[in-house]
Amino acid sequence: MSNAKRPDGRSYDELRPIKAELGIAKNADGSCYLEWGKNIVVATVNGPRPVLPKHLADPSKAIINYKYRMATFSVSERKSPVPGKRDKEISLVSGHALEAAVMVEQFPNTMIDVNVLILSADAGTRVAALTAASLAAADAGLAMRGLISAVAAGRANKQIVLDLNKEDEDTEDAVDMACAFLMPQKELALLQMDGFADKKECSKILETALKGAEKVYEIQKKALVSKYPVEGGIQ
Ligand code: UDP
Repeated sequence: MSNAKRPDGRSYDELRPIKAELGIAKNADGSCYLEWGKNIVVATVNGPRPVLPKHLADPSKAIINYKYRMATFSVSERKSPVPGKRDKEISLVSGHALEAAVMVEQFPNTMIDVNVLILSADAGTRVAALTAASLAAADAGLAMRGLISAVAAGRANKQIVLDLNKEDEDTEDAVDMACAFLMPQKELALLQMDGFADKKECSKILETALKGAEKVYEIQKKALVSKYPVEGGIQ
């Protein structure tokens, strides 16, 4: 990739600055505060707890009850506090993605509540939310196969770019591919795409997203180790 810059000064394969802190909500079992560029996210995890009513329980695994919400003040035009179609769809697919990391089969007949609130949005909020939720799940002490490291990649102004901000997303030819990987296994856990791209370009975008997810994973590990020191670090 060239060294040319985007309008915000980043090179095409550069992430926005990311800062994560665990354990910020004392009444949650696990929590994470995450700043990702101009996105601000708080994620909490509670549970496992018994499912009520009982007939909704799954005897083979825990149900992940993932709720993605945007605060009314998180976007330029007031967001309704009533969850719309977009919030529900994001919640559903993100819950499935998180299931790839949490060992849900170890907690049959239970529910794990994951709440993610977007306080400030500048595109890429669903991937920021999943990245934070995965850290909150680890902070809650849930048995996990790995972490979900999520990032978007795509196209803006005819260039393949990593981590689109709102300005990138609003370009005429924009393609936005939200990806989540189970790390360190590098298994794809979520892929959603807006815009049109051919097969070759899609492969390049996916490759760019995976490289970005590797960087996100490094940041997540640092956040984990700063609260839970591990000799020799995490793999
Ligand atoms: N957005 C908004 N109002 C909405 C939904 C989204 O202003 O009701 C903005 C917000 O900045 C968001 C961006 O549009 O981050 C991109 O939204 P998208 O649906 O692509 O999800 P995201 O990229 O945040 O995962």
